[in-house]
Parts: sequence; structure tokens; C-alpha cells
Amino acid sequence: MAHVIDGNEVGVRIQNELSASVERLSDSGVTPGLATVLMSDDGASETYVSMKQRACEQIGIEGYHYEIGPDEPADELFDRIGELNEDPSVHGILVQMPVPDHVDEQRVLRRIDPLKDVDGFHPENVGRLVAGDPRYKPCTPHGVQRLLAAADADPAGKDVVVVGRSNIVGKPLANLLVQKADGGNATVTVCHSRTDDIAAKTLEADIVVAAAGVPELIDAEMITDGTTVIDVGVNRVDADNEKGYELAGDVDFEDVEEKAEAITPVPGGVGPMTIAMLLYNTVKAASLQEGVAIELPGQ
Ligand code: NAP
Repeated sequence: MAHVIDGNEVGVRIQNELSASVERLSDSGVTPGLATVLMSDDGASETYVSMKQRACEQIGIEGYHYEIGPDEPADELFDRIGELNEDPSVHGILVQMPVPDHVDEQRVLRRIDPLKDVDGFHPENVGRLVAGDPRYKPCTPHGVQRLLAAADADPAGKDVVVVGRSNIVGKPLANLLVQKADGGNATVTVCHSRTDDIAAKTLEADIVVAAAGVPELIDAEMITDGTTVIDVGVNRVDADNEKGYELAGDVDFEDVEEKAEAITPVPGGVGPMTIAMLLYNTVKAASLQEGVAIELPGQ
């Protein structure tokens, strides 16, 4: 049976260490601030934003939250971002995605001051990551990297297959893992919907990361004994309960658990790490913008 990697436990440990970093900033008169902006009435997006705000509160980050109606003109959002860029009490800005269709998502990412871009999606920060000089690592890929470290699954010298090539998970994760740096040095294969035979790739892998958004995409037939499997997927699948659905990953957990060396559950795997790494980036942003040097967890 696989070792189940507990993302809640690792996330809480990082948050506790971050609390100490926040205290050191506070000794220098600095309170890190994170502004979240929601332009949506989607229930899942509302839940994600409130979880992020609650986590900020727990470790002493000041949270600021703004809502813009999904039918409002795009300029409402661009103007709000402009104000937050100028606000010295705000060190990090997070616009919850997706934004409505009439708002150009790429323009939103470019509008955020790169120094306040704690999601790490501004082209300047993407470029720095690819060039091997990351400022803010995107939260979910960074969380996966930290989970691998916590599970003693150093990717160095290993064959890693990432299933998914989105700009927020698959591509930045592949970039992180291939870097000549701690937590990197892997040989990475990226699969996607046009990959011919995904199982042929995953069967050769030491580490498989599933980030496709397809329930039960990865089953036990697709991995060999000893593989570490990280499940990024969060999918709503029909269930006979009050809500009518439950959350499932991209991996057939019960099947793969029998064979893998280690595996993350959904929920309780990558999700809590995404939030922990958002807090990490916000604390780092405050330290960079205020010129107060502090040690961050795992540095
Ligand atoms: P996305 O933008 O929809 O990208 C999905 C990627 O998977 C695409 O590259 C797509 O290929 C590929 N794909 C789709 N179906 C496939 C299939 N049958 N076989 C192989 N590849 C396939 O999704 P995302 O934003 O990256 O998110 C992926 C999953 O992670 C979702 O379930 C999302 O909810 C979850 N997520 C979780 C967290 C967390 O904190 N836990 C954070 C972010 C995302 P093409 O490029 O060819 O279309």
C-alpha cells in the first residue's frame, strides 16, 4: 500500500513557519497585505477566495477583499487593480480566475504590478521562472514541489510525467522540475489531450503528476510499482449526498494506492499546499517591497 502524503499536515507546517516570518516582519513595522478581487458569482470561486482570506487571517496577513459584479464593464476590474498597485498596504494582488468572457484574462495578468503578482502569472514572472531566476513560483506547482520534498521523493535524476499543460499548473510545474536547482533536475515529459499513448509514458515514470481535470484518468494499469503519484485534479462528480456531488481527483485513488509508492488524496493533498504557497508568496512580496530581509520556510 502506498504512503499517503498528507497535504494538510505539510501545509499547516509551512503556515506555522510563515507565522514566524510574519512576526519578524511585524518587528520591523511591516504587516503583509493580500488583496483578493472576485469578478464572478460562481460558488466554487467564492469558496476559494474565502478560504484564501481565512488562511491569511490565521497567520497575521491583512486581507482586503473586493467584489465586482460579473456584468460590470471590464474597466471596473482594471481600475481596481490600478488602485491596488498604488496602495502601499497591499503587497499581493490575486484576481480569482476565471474572469467573465468580456474581460481579457491576459490583460488582467499584465495589469498587475509584477512585484505584487503573488500568483506568479505575469509574463515577467513567468519569464523569470523559465530563466531559472524565479521571483514568485506559481502556487500549485510550488505546492507540488514541496509535497515531493516532504515525501522524500526528490525529482533529481528521476523521470517525471506531468499530465496537463495549462499555464497555471502543467507548464510552470514542468519548468520548475526541469530547473538546475533544488527540487528540480528531473527529466520531464509533458502530456496533454493530443498525446498519443499516455500510459506508455506514465509506465516509464518515477513520478506522475496528474493535472488534467479528468476524473479517474490515471489508474493502476498506467503506473508501475514504486511510482509516486501526485493528484492535482479537483473535479465535481455526481454523488448521492445533500450537495449532489463530491470532489474527486484525476487519479483512481483506491486502485492506484495498492501499487504506488506514495500518493496524494483529493481532497487533502495538493489543495492545502496551493493556499500555503500563496501565503508564502505574499510574505515574500512584503519582504521584497519593504526591503526587510527575512528567512522563509524551506529556503
Ligand atoms: P485546464 O486549464 O483545463 O488544463 C487541463 C490540461 O489537461 C490541458 O493541458 C489539457 O490538454 C489536458 N487534458 C485534458 N484532458 C486530457 C486527457 N484526457 N488526457 C490528457 N490530457 C488531458 O486545467 P488546469 O487549470 O490546469 O487544472 C487541472 C486540474 O487541476 C483541474 O481539475 C483543476 O480543478 C485542478 N486544479 C487544482 C488546484 C489545486 O489547488 N488543487 C489548482 C489548480 C487546478 P490540452 O492542452 O490539449 O487541452
